[in-house]
Amino acid sequence: MPIIGQIRQNDRRASGRWRQLRRAVGASTVVALAVSCAAVSGAGHLPDDRAPLDRPLAAAVEGLPLGEAQRVGAEYAAASLADYAHALERAEARRVAAAKRWGLATPPLRPPAPPPQKVELASTPGLIADAGLPPVVVRVPTDDKVVFLTIDDGWHKDPRFTRMLRELDIPYSAFLSDYVAKDDYDYFRRMHRDGAAVQNHTLHHKEMPKLSYAQQRREICDMQEVLKKEIGVTPRLFRPPYGAYNRDTLRAAATCGIEAVPLWAEEAWAEKFDWGRADRVFHPGDIILTHFRGPQEWGGTMNDMLRRTLKTATDQGFALARLEDYI
Ligand SMILES: [Zn+2]
Repeated sequence: MPIIGQIRQNDRRASGRWRQLRRAVGASTVVALAVSCAAVSGAGHLPDDRAPLDRPLAAAVEGLPLGEAQRVGAEYAAASLADYAHALERAEARRVAAAKRWGLATPPLRPPAPPPQKVELASTPGLIADAGLPPVVVRVPTDDKVVFLTIDDGWHKDPRFTRMLRELDIPYSAFLSDYVAKDDYDYFRRMHRDGAAVQNHTLHHKEMPKLSYAQQRREICDMQEVLKKEIGVTPRLFRPPYGAYNRDTLRAAATCGIEAVPLWAEEAWAEKFDWGRADRVFHPGDIILTHFRGPQEWGGTMNDMLRRTLKTATDQGFALARLEDYI
């Protein structure tokens, strides 16, 4: 089958992949790809792994000689880049307006581009660090001025909270425990669709060192299955309830496909901020713990917690980044 016919057949998938790619690698890489795709299409062959051509480009280069296809590809790429820049400007304006609406004096800082490769991780000094076991960390080794927001359990499901995170474009990771999340997985599915990472915090939120190896394994591995079924993800990260674990926990977690165990350096609440260190400042790569809780358990809302956390980070020159970009 001629190549353009093949692309047409895969049109829907190809344009989905094009958009995904643009999100994942940024516009400039996509520009290069667009040009090379146009070139190879023009030359009459397109390797299978290079099919992110979308419909207009595929149509535009059909039947053109190579040089002409390259010119069309370059024009198309330049136009996409301009579109992309305008979309970024509009998104930034929306974010500034959202910050004002949510009661922030200044919009949260933007994180730098994620590292090209995940960070080489070793357990934080003093925590279990046996070869072959997932490392246990309270911060990610990086020089970037970023901190990571992680939200545990899943008790309180406040749509205003997820709206604030979405409108401000704040990355975060939810460590869910089935016993409280299960009455409304829809809430977490929406959250995940909006970009939140979903990770493992056991089925029943037991103190792991009090369980046998087999019981610990069920708590972790079965939660992997639940999250796969409910959210469509298989977590790579696991956080033991109360931060309590032993070697069996880490051995069990490893057999369930867990690659790292992030604990936390600070804890955020609606009405206060608990610093893990005496200097009471963020260190690059710190992991912040908070919970899906509401005014019944806290003296405020999750939005109050987020406002406090964002203000603290901004005042110290830190941006919130996506934990999964780093580990
Ligand atoms: Zn918990």
